[in-house]
Amino acid sequence: MNASRDRHFSAEAWEEYARGMLSEEDSKPLEEHLLVCPACQDALAGWDEYIRVAKAVMSRTRSRWSKSVASAVTLASQT
Ligand SMILES: [Zn+2]
Repeated sequence: MNASRDRHFSAEAWEEYARGMLSEEDSKPLEEHLLVCPACQDALAGWDEYIRVAKAVMSRTRSRWSKSVASAVTLASQT
């Protein structure tokens, strides 16, 4: 397709990839490059760690939120 093996991707590109913001088609060159480039594997590993933490925080927040919604729905259906 393109010369993805010959150039590195930007930190912004890896951030978008790690956040799942890229389409399958857009992620493909990044994934192909990742297989052959330890430097970018490191770059993505940093984002992966960041995303994992962010997701953990978000899911904690979300589960708290959905629990309070669930109890509100339960209360509403009881009345
Ligand atoms: Zn690279």
